[in-house]
Amino acid sequence: MKKVTTVCPYCGAGCKLNLVVDNGKIIRAEAANGVTNQGELCLKGYYGWDFLNDTKLLTPRLTQPLIRRQRGGKFEAVSWDEAIRYTAQRLKEIKQKHGPRAIMTTGSSRGTGNETNYVMQKFARAVIGTNNVDCCARVCHGPSVAGLQATLGNGAMSNSIGDIENSKCLLVIGYNCADSHPIVARRVIKAKEKGAQIIVCDPRRIETARIADQHLQIRNGCNMALVNAFAHVLMEEDLYDHDYVAKYTEGFEEYRKNVADYSPEAVAEQTGVSAQQIRQAMRTYAAAPSATIMWGMGVTQFGQAVDVVKGLAGLALLTGNLGRANVGVGPVRGQNNVQGACDMGVLPNEFPGYQSVTDPKVRAKFADAWGIDVDQMDPEVGHRITEIPHLAIEGKVKAYYIMGEDPLQTEADLGLVRKGFEALEFVVVQDIFMTKTAEQADVILPATSWGEHGGVFSCADRGFQRFEKAIEPKYNVKRDWEIISLLATEMGYPMHYNDNQQIWDEMRSLCPLFYGATYEKMGELGHVQWPCTTLESPGTQYLYADNHFDTPSGKGQLFAAPWRAPAEVPDGDYPLVLCTVREVGHYSCRSMTGNCAALQTLADEPGFVQMNPVDAQALGIRDQQLVWVASRRGKVISRVNYNERINLGAVYMTYQWWIGACNELTQDNLDPISKTPETKYCAVKVEQIADQ
Ligand code: SF4
Repeated sequence: MKKVTTVCPYCGAGCKLNLVVDNGKIIRAEAANGVTNQGELCLKGYYGWDFLNDTKLLTPRLTQPLIRRQRGGKFEAVSWDEAIRYTAQRLKEIKQKHGPRAIMTTGSSRGTGNETNYVMQKFARAVIGTNNVDCCARVCHGPSVAGLQATLGNGAMSNSIGDIENSKCLLVIGYNCADSHPIVARRVIKAKEKGAQIIVCDPRRIETARIADQHLQIRNGCNMALVNAFAHVLMEEDLYDHDYVAKYTEGFEEYRKNVADYSPEAVAEQTGVSAQQIRQAMRTYAAAPSATIMWGMGVTQFGQAVDVVKGLAGLALLTGNLGRANVGVGPVRGQNNVQGACDMGVLPNEFPGYQSVTDPKVRAKFADAWGIDVDQMDPEVGHRITEIPHLAIEGKVKAYYIMGEDPLQTEADLGLVRKGFEALEFVVVQDIFMTKTAEQADVILPATSWGEHGGVFSCADRGFQRFEKAIEPKYNVKRDWEIISLLATEMGYPMHYNDNQQIWDEMRSLCPLFYGATYEKMGELGHVQWPCTTLESPGTQYLYADNHFDTPSGKGQLFAAPWRAPAEVPDGDYPLVLCTVREVGHYSCRSMTGNCAALQTLADEPGFVQMNPVDAQALGIRDQQLVWVASRRGKVISRVNYNERINLGAVYMTYQWWIGACNELTQDNLDPISKTPETKYCAVKVEQIADQ
């Protein structure tokens, strides 16, 4: 029997755990004493491993390379040699005929690791010759990256997960940590126990609202108006830090003008929050000796998300809540390695280490290191995954190489996504399960899973952590970076790595931000937060320590924009707002957690819709009744869960279920900067199904 220390693959909390292995099988998981989890795990950490033993699989594990030579035909099992040869040939043909920008690739924010993401973006840029590489940050915290880069200089949490419990005020907006990051939620509870004031802004009475000192039960779709009103109060009531603003920020006068019309009284009706509550929230926030803002997808999955993120950064700048311990801004990243996928340049606008693809010096540096002519590098920002359905339909993208993503489950407006896939000439899926997207592939390249390989993840607070291989893979599968390397070599760009560390060290040598984060420094239980620029540096617990921001001027940028309405608001035909949410037992597309026996038992109903009983009864709908939920794009069957914590006029569904996927209903109104879809808001109706 052996214990292997690894990192949970299910959320950005970055909990360390030990997998206990007996006779080549995992028999249990035990909490390890990691920096972020301190010996605790949630149920996904304890029970999210048994798909590795093949018990109770609902979807087949991918066990060998498969090719489907004709659309609609059957998959045939082939050797690795043939799969690589065929894929390389098809990609070369498409590149030759339509150019490199006709090929789209993805990294993965799941259990594959930073080294693989580095290799995938290198494949896109050095082998295909395109910046068309992206990841699921696009549909979650893309706006946090863009908004924080613009205002403060780094698209990440400024603070640490460990700092949260020592902050004296937590402003939690659009973030249901109890469901999405239960171990981060423990920090919120500890903060409360240590006397912190908790302010929650959320349409639902979520778990955090139950322990909050103030709950601002905002109407769906009003974030910008509320954040502008917060800034208005800080200035009108003279609650802001004059000295800090004068020394360390820019744009104050413009900012003041832009929020002038957003008095709490002016927005009270629109937001559903009284002027008194808005004023009180900011009096509490400004008076706290240390204050932290935390947010999740209730901020980022809107068509105006980047503006709201910038506005939240503005509140921290106005009150000087940056650049020291226990304060800051915290977009808590969702999937376990979505921070890492961004760190590794699986972004269409940035190389690894957040170095711009439009900077000729940066392009020259990477071209030189990768041994290619700089003219082979794409000088333009690449496509985002949310643009692919439209670009495929327009004939601009012909091939899609998807690694560890399931867009046919997780993206907005699945009818549109399906049309995009139908228009593609060639789809390659590299994954561990036969996902909805894999079912549509022309080639399937089966990969090892978390547990079957090691590497480095980045958790939500910029912490690099190593994770280790626990068991030997049973099937004819390969490590993700090995598959990509074989393809690159077959396409005429020899790529050979011996192990993860060789890739990591190549990456470090090209990324000043990460240079000092060596494998040795990360060690077994280590957690090295970037920036870590020298071999001597222990990493950085909080950003902007000297109140120098990583913006062109070195100053924090104050920003406010007028509120914009969501793209599709309720009307007589579709009178309710649909908001997509998470559930505690499953993650993302659910391909891994949905194949774990204990987690299946916890939540075995394919989909539900949460409704306030008042709304449901007005439609004559009983608790647990089956209903149709319909939008202008489609309809799905679901079961109503009465829930008094739900605000009137809105319904909530998770997007994780294979049947009744609520992304059949959502719409793809994209934030103009981050291109993140507005999956938190569309208009729907709920109708009874007569026969039960
Ligand atoms: Fe920790 Fe998140 Fe895993 Fe739960 S799902 S154990 S909170 S990393």
